[in-house]
Amino acid sequence: MNSIQLLPPKVVDQIAAGEVVERPASVIKELVENALDAGAKNIEVRLQEGGLRSMEVRDDGCGIAAEDLPLAVTSHATSKLRKPEDLDAIATMGFRGEALASVASVSRLLLTSKTAEASHASQIRVDFGRGQEVREVAGVQGTRVLVEDLFAELPGRRKFLKKAATELSHCRAWVERLALSHQGVGFRLFHQQRLLFEVQADEDLDRRCGAVFGSGLAERMVKIEERGTYLSLEARVGPPESARRDAGRVHLYLNGRWVRDARLLRAVREGVREFVESGHYPTLYLAMALPPERADVNVHPQKLEVRFRDSNLVFASLVKALRRGLAQAPWATRQVGELGSEAEAGGRMRSGSSSFSSSMGTASQVWERPLADSSGQAAMESQPDSAGPAEEDRTSLPFPPREQEGLGPILSVANTFLVREVPGGMEILDQHALHERVNLEELRREIRQGQVISQPLLIPALVDVGRQELALLLERSETFRRLGVEIEAFGETTLAIRAVPARLERLQADKLVMDLLDLAREHRQASPENLQEEALYRMACRGAVMAGDRLDEAALRGLLQRGAKLPQDRTCAHGRPVRVFLSLADLEKAFHRR
Ligand code: ADP
Ligand code: MG
Repeated sequence: MNSIQLLPPKVVDQIAAGEVVERPASVIKELVENALDAGAKNIEVRLQEGGLRSMEVRDDGCGIAAEDLPLAVTSHATSKLRKPEDLDAIATMGFRGEALASVASVSRLLLTSKTAEASHASQIRVDFGRGQEVREVAGVQGTRVLVEDLFAELPGRRKFLKKAATELSHCRAWVERLALSHQGVGFRLFHQQRLLFEVQADEDLDRRCGAVFGSGLAERMVKIEERGTYLSLEARVGPPESARRDAGRVHLYLNGRWVRDARLLRAVREGVREFVESGHYPTLYLAMALPPERADVNVHPQKLEVRFRDSNLVFASLVKALRRGLAQAPWATRQVGELGSEAEAGGRMRSGSSSFSSSMGTASQVWERPLADSSGQAAMESQPDSAGPAEEDRTSLPFPPREQEGLGPILSVANTFLVREVPGGMEILDQHALHERVNLEELRREIRQGQVISQPLLIPALVDVGRQELALLLERSETFRRLGVEIEAFGETTLAIRAVPARLERLQADKLVMDLLDLAREHRQASPENLQEEALYRMACRGAVMAGDRLDEAALRGLLQRGAKLPQDRTCAHGRPVRVFLSLADLEKAFHRR
């Protein structure tokens, strides 16, 4: 073995660069964050070949003084942190003083800047860590950083880069993330001279969502705002049909920083679970603000992960806020007044060719989200959509006016699907999904009014369980009673069920007990409210007709009528669709009339 020696600074920087600079998008993130820290009002990003050839970020911020230029590209040199205490209350995006030095060590970097006081701009060039003299050049106030040939002298790193289109989509994702969270700042992204993305400095959050998610979708996002002493949050949530299998459209911010945190994502899914099928993520902008000492967003060099002082409290507030907000969602309500525009919106649904199958595909696109990436990692990695700008999601479902509910013929297919005419086209319903949603909403209403109406059993149903199971169930008997299920011990290992929820006539006592036992086990630590919520979902499902169950005409109509009275009957309790709409335009296409 050789003797121990300190590494040359250039090598140190290149190793450190590995932490900060992974791909062009990481450079874009760092440079744009620097521009934001410099108080820029307008930031322009120009890319060639997805950033692989060159990337340039220009801003109109405070600029860097000529004598500071060499320091700016030196590692651990920063203007944002002076003393150790500053670390506890960081207000800037950067503070490590690593980014420019790292980028400069793995690329050809040209930094040009001018402060308000300076009479001219100054420039410094660094080629793969080899710095040159500062020189005077012409230029306006602000900073321009040009980064060329990333990793060109480091073939080991270069080979991990993807094709230009992929790198471009990652760069774009960062510009969008930063644009969403920085109102008051204008952003422009060019690729090969072509303008790909733009928001003006004065555009508000809704306009920014429009630029990122497409204006059709942004218009239908639900607004949620909560101001608490501990946690404040502002959110925009997209409708069910805009959900995806990957988390590419989930934008979470903590104290102004975009973060990606597995547990936060789980809380999001929990909060939207009635609208978004399991395994899917909503289209979401969600910004949380916490006192800085209660959250640490700096645990990872790329600052994407977070740590909370009281994480359970944060997650619980997040879930609650989403649920409360979504309960008011306009796309969850049947509104006669929206009918015209909704039906028209249906006519604008995207479509492929004009064959019948593709037309069916079009309609079901309302619910079938693209399987962007089936690998387990996909969700965490946020795969930005390489197809470029968020496609316009103008799809929307019409709702028959309440007074028409129950009229007109209904066809039952395979004792599973109901088909009928609705204004603007036809719809297909899933009888189980509809019944499950009806049960859930009706049970909830009863709970709000006190407790679920129960139906005493003439002869109590006896179910044998173990000693421990019995104890577990009895411990939770008060929660179950609120749900209309009355249980008591009958001997040492037998449970007697005295009453079940009145409206769930399909519920079988022994199955019910097994379900409750499951839940009591699974949610041993859960609060009574959480257990109640879980039990509600389970009962709503078990008490519903199944696919394949034959229903007579009266039962079908009854179900539809109950559905019409609900605050929402578009998704089942698990977020799966209740109804799929085929517009007249879809039908016309299918029959080559268009
Ligand atoms: P950090 O942002 O962590 O301080 P960087 O390496 O990103 O570290 O930047 C080093 C320093 O260079 C910053 O502290 C700042 O003073 C200066 N700087 C970098 N980019 C800009 C910019 N666009 N405008 C003004 N100053 C900048
Ligand atoms: Mg920085």
